[in-house]
Amino acid sequence: MKVGNLVGLVGWRGMVGSVLMDRMQAEGDFALIEPVFFSTSDAGGKAPAQARNETVLQDAYNIDALKRCDVIISCQGGDYTTAVFPKLRASGWSGHWIDAASSLRMQSDAVIILDPVNLPVIQNALHQGGNNWIGGNCTVSCMLMGAGALYKAGLVEWMSTQTYQAASGGGAQHMRELLTQFGTLNAEVKALLDDPKSAILEIDRKVIAKQRTLSASETANFAVPLGGSLIPWIDKDLGLGKQSDEPGYGTSREEWKGMAETNKILGLGDGFGTPAVPVDGFCVRVGAMRCHSQALTFKLKKNVPSADIEAMIAADNEWVKVVPNTREATITGLTPVAVTGTLTIPVGRIRKLAMGPEYVGAFTVGDQLLWGAAEPLRRMLRILLQA
Ligand code: NAP
Repeated sequence: MKVGNLVGLVGWRGMVGSVLMDRMQAEGDFALIEPVFFSTSDAGGKAPAQARNETVLQDAYNIDALKRCDVIISCQGGDYTTAVFPKLRASGWSGHWIDAASSLRMQSDAVIILDPVNLPVIQNALHQGGNNWIGGNCTVSCMLMGAGALYKAGLVEWMSTQTYQAASGGGAQHMRELLTQFGTLNAEVKALLDDPKSAILEIDRKVIAKQRTLSASETANFAVPLGGSLIPWIDKDLGLGKQSDEPGYGTSREEWKGMAETNKILGLGDGFGTPAVPVDGFCVRVGAMRCHSQALTFKLKKNVPSADIEAMIAADNEWVKVVPNTREATITGLTPVAVTGTLTIPVGRIRKLAMGPEYVGAFTVGDQLLWGAAEPLRRMLRILLQA
C-alpha cells in the first residue's frame, strides 16, 4: 500500500505542535512531504516557512480542504478532534489520521502509537487497513519508553506509579502561570530574603499568606496555587465511587489512563484476549516546568537479579539510559532539569524493595513533549511513508 505525501498539519503552533515542527525540521521530514497547514483561528493567513506550494493557511473546520490530504496530523486538542473527525470520516475520507489528543485513544479501531514499544501492534493494524493512529498519554508513553522491557519480558505482575508531572502538561498558559506565581511569591519576601539576618518564620508566614490569597486571575489555569505547592489530582474527576470500595473507583482520569493505555499499547487486556496487567497509583502535578517524573513499584512474577533488570532496561531501545543508583548520579542525571529538551529517558533508583525480592523500585523522567507527545506522531508519519 502506497501512502500519498500530501500531509495536513493542524495545531502546529501550539505547545505540542511547535515541538513537533522542530523535530520534523531537525529530522528532515518536510523534505518527504507536501505540507498543508491548517488553522482554527487564521484561515487565509500565511503558512509557516516549511510550506512549499501550499502557502496559505487552510480552515481547519473545512471538511473539503481536509479531505484532500493523504495524512492529517492533529495537535489541536480533543474538542477539535471530537468536532471534526466524525464528519471527516462520514464524508468518506479514508486517509490516515494521526492525533495527539486523547479523544479517540480507546476506540477499538484506533491504535495508540509508541513504535519503539509496540511496532508489531502498529504493523498488524496497518496490514489490516487501520488508519487511526493516536499518541498515548504522556506519562504512560514516557514510562513505557523507560521500563517497557519488563513488560515485553512478561515479568510484570502489577505496577504502581506515583507521578510528579510538570506544568507544561497543561499547555503554554499553565507554564506561564507557574512562573508568574514564583515571581509573585519571591517579590512578596524579596526584602527579607536580601537580609541574611531576617527570620525564616516571617518569610514562611508571608509566603503562605500570599499563596492563600492569590487572585482568581493568578490561578486561572490550575485553579489553586502550584508555585511552592503541589496538586494531587490531574485531569477530570471520573465521578465514580462516592460509596463504593471497588478498585478503580475514585481514580482521576489521568490515573485511569495508566492502566487502560499501558495495556492497550502493549496489546494486552480487553480486545486482545489476554489478561490486563494491573496498573494504579497517584498522579500529582508539581512545580516543574517541563518533563514528567514517576516513581515505579513493580511486583514481578519471579525474583530477577537487579543487574539483570538493569541490563534488560538498558538494552530495550536506543533512548533509555540506566542511571546508577548513587546519590551523585541521581541528582545530576535523573531530574527534569537534566532531561528537558532531550529524547533520553533515564531510569534510575533501580533497587529491590523491603517487601520482598520480587518487589522492584525505579524512578524515571521523560520530556513529555517529545516521547510523550510529538515524537511518536512524526515517527508514525515515517512508518506510513515507508509502508
Ligand atoms: P496548546 O498549546 O493550547 O495548543 C492548541 C491550539 O491552541 C494551537 O494549535 C492553536 O490553534 C491555539 N492557540 C491559541 N492561542 C495560542 C497561542 N498564543 N499560542 C499557540 N497556540 C495558540 O495545546 P497543547 O498543549 O499543544 O495540546 C494539544 C493536544 O495535545 C491536546 O489534546 C493535549 O491533550 C495533547 N497533549 C499535550 C501534551 C502536553 O504535554 N502539553 C502531551 C501529550 C498530549 P490555532 O493555530 O488553530 O489557533
